[in-house]
Amino acid sequence: MSDLVTIMTYDNYMTAHIVKARLANRGIEAFIKDEQTLTMNWLWNNALGGMKLQVKEADVARAMEILEEDEKEFETQIHSDAYTEEDKSVFDPDNRICIYCGSKNTKRISYNKNWAYAAMLFLGFPIAVRSDKWHCFHCTKDF
Ligand SMILES: [Zn+2]
Repeated sequence: MSDLVTIMTYDNYMTAHIVKARLANRGIEAFIKDEQTLTMNWLWNNALGGMKLQVKEADVARAMEILEEDEKEFETQIHSDAYTEEDKSVFDPDNRICIYCGSKNTKRISYNKNWAYAAMLFLGFPIAVRSDKWHCFHCTKDF
């Protein structure tokens, strides 16, 4: 029996299970500690430090690599959806005018980060979850 090492903690079991499945797909066995306790009583979450995702000591390096790759891939895909500096000079005429500062440098927030992340882990790519919120790049407020 080899020692288990905690490589991540999660405050919700959905994410913990997605990552666990993701690791399993790459041949790494992972375990979730404190899951029963935390699902039964989420108030204990902070006290226990979240759900602990654990892998065998021998798998730690590879598991961390996979998690880092996933996070990078996710960030790249999400941010490729945003305006680059050049794009900002040509605003889409359909953009809403910011209710705070009047700028047209706005963009519909087309995804919810948690769901997009979950989708990427399940399907291999993030899906845009429609929302009716807009973000202003000028004053950085959402409206
Ligand atoms: Zn604004």
